[in-house]
Parts: sequence; structure tokens; C-alpha cells
Amino acid sequence: MRYEAPESVEGAVALLVGAKGEARVLAGGTDLLVQMRADVVEPELIVDIKKIAETRAVTEEKGGWRIGAAVTGAELKENARLKKIWPGVVEAANLIGSTQIQGRATLGGNLCNGSPAADSVPALIAAGAIASLAGPNGRRDLPVEDVMLGPRKLALTKGEIVVSFLLPPRPARSSDAYLRFIPRTEMDIAVVGAGVSLSLDGGGVITAARVSLGAVAARVLLVPEAAQAIVGSRLDKPAQDRLEAAARAICRPIDDKRGTTEFRIDVAAVLTRRSALIALDRARAN
Ligand SMILES: Cc1cc2nc3c(=O)[nH]c(=O)nc-3n(C[C@H](O)[C@H](O)[C@H](O)COP(=O)(O)OP(=O)(O)OC[C@H]3O[C@@H](n4cnc5c(N)ncnc54)[C@H](O)[C@@H]3O)c2cc1C
Repeated sequence: MRYEAPESVEGAVALLVGAKGEARVLAGGTDLLVQMRADVVEPELIVDIKKIAETRAVTEEKGGWRIGAAVTGAELKENARLKKIWPGVVEAANLIGSTQIQGRATLGGNLCNGSPAADSVPALIAAGAIASLAGPNGRRDLPVEDVMLGPRKLALTKGEIVVSFLLPPRPARSSDAYLRFIPRTEMDIAVVGAGVSLSLDGGGVITAARVSLGAVAARVLLVPEAAQAIVGSRLDKPAQDRLEAAARAICRPIDDKRGTTEFRIDVAAVLTRRSALIALDRARAN
């Protein structure tokens, strides 16, 4: 096995494209190293992207935020301004594993591991985050909801990496939230995860919303019907009921020992409503 740690995006892409056997990007390693130890993957080449400055930076850009793909949850939490503007994204990244895991785990790794239960992905999708990709044919942007196609299946082509995520500019009276249900208090995989982002007008009416659900289908879902159910409302009881109904309707979860299909659908409805209420409270304060 060969280990490389290039200092440029182009260098990483060239290494990945030139690999003879299986090649893997290494970010925090909290998925990859576990999978290697379990012999699930046996890469011939590992390309560590943490020495590439672009993947490690958090910067304000065009009124929004650019977050490097190899930035860890712990680093995001230390950014007070980001945390104020995108609390849901930051809290989702900091639900991943334990304190130790959060010091390693990255947003790019969480997305590119291709798990429908990945915690930061619903929050990124609700935020309207755009993934910036680099590959042998240059750079391109892809909405985060279009990166994961199914369990372990990504829209990335050979040699392509996620360099960063762009969170859009935030109008006043906007906020977001992410909640998940796990059977334990921590260190568990989401049975359901729900991310909601919304904006209010001066009268407290929701003018825009995005809702995303994790662990209820083969990929993390953007749920436009759920957003439509609350736009134009103050999230009163009828709007909450419509939101829950839309969340329920989209769910096609698995049925396993950690949650039956019926249970996951019920939890999806409840978490979506609670996330929306938290986002609403936060938006009122912004
Ligand atoms: C004890 C433990 C608890 C955990 N708890 C949770 C949890 O609560 N919630 C949760 O969602 N996950 C959890 N995880 C899984 C894991 O920590 C997360 O998915 C984490 O975000 C992965 O990030 P990473 O940087 O460590 O990825 P890595 O392991 O470095 O990479 C993961 C995969 O993505 C690829 N990859 C990484 N970065 C890129 C990139 N920029 N471009 C292209 N491909 C890339 C790698 O090749 C690899 O296939 C847990 C893991 C452990 C070991």
C-alpha cells in the first residue's frame, strides 16, 4: 500500500487518476481506517488530502461560507460566527461519534462515505450547500443532495474529490437545526435524522424553507413537499401537521433491529416538526 499526502488539489487528482488498483482519499480516517481494519476495503493507494490548504479552510465568501472538505466538526464548533449563522450544520457535525471522533471526522468524509444515515448530510442539504468537486476534467459544483446516489454510491467520477462546501448567503431572520434519534445517548448511527433551514419575513411568516431527512431511504433526501407545507405560515399547528404529513409521505425506511419501518416513519415526522420549531425560534432571534 502506498501513502501520499499532496499539497495541491491537482496533485491529489493526478495521483487518484494514475492509480493502478483501488485508490482512496483519506480525510479524518474514522470511516476509512475502520473499513481497512475490517478488510472491507484494501486500497493500493491512499491519498491524504489534509495537507491541501483549500480543504482545510473556513472562509466567508460572497456573503456565504466556504468550508473545506477536510475541516473537522471540532474545528467548525470553534468558529463562533459560523455557529451563529449555521447552528444546524455545526451541531450536526458535532453529533458525529465522540469528542475524539469529532476531532478527526470531516464533512467531506461524512458525505463521501455514502451512508444514508450520515449526520451532517441532512443539515448540509437543508442549508442548500453546494459541493465543489475537482477531477481530471477540472472543477464543477454539485448540490449536496446530488452527490450521494445510494448506499456507498456517489456521483463522483474516477479521480474526483470534494474540495469544499459553499453555504449560501443568509438573509436576516434565518436559521437552521438538525436533530437525530439514536437508541443510545451517543456513539450510534441515526435511526432518523432531520435537518430544517428556514427564513422569516418581518411578520414572522416563513418565506423560504428546506427540509432534509436521513436514514429513511437509500440516500439522504431533500423533501421539497415538506418545505412547501410550511412556507407562507408561521408554523402554527395546521402547518406543523402538514409538515409531519409530508415527512411521513416521503419515507421509505428499512426495517431492522434498530427501528421498524413504522417507528422510523413516526420518528421522522416528530423530528422534522421539532427541528422546524427550533429553527423557527433561532430565526426569530436573528
Ligand atoms: C466510533 C465511531 C462513531 C461514529 N459515529 C458517527 C455518527 O454518530 N454519525 C455519523 O454520521 N458518522 C459516524 N461515524 C462515521 C464517521 O466518523 C463519519 O462518517 C465521518 O464524518 C467520516 O469522516 P472522515 O473524515 O473520518 O472520513 P474518512 O474515513 O477519511 O473517509 C470516509 C470515506 O470518504 C472518502 N472521502 C473522504 N473525504 C473525501 C473527499 N474530500 N472527497 C472524496 N472522497 C472522500 C474516503 O475515501 C472514504 O471512502 C462514526 C465512526 C466511528 C469510528
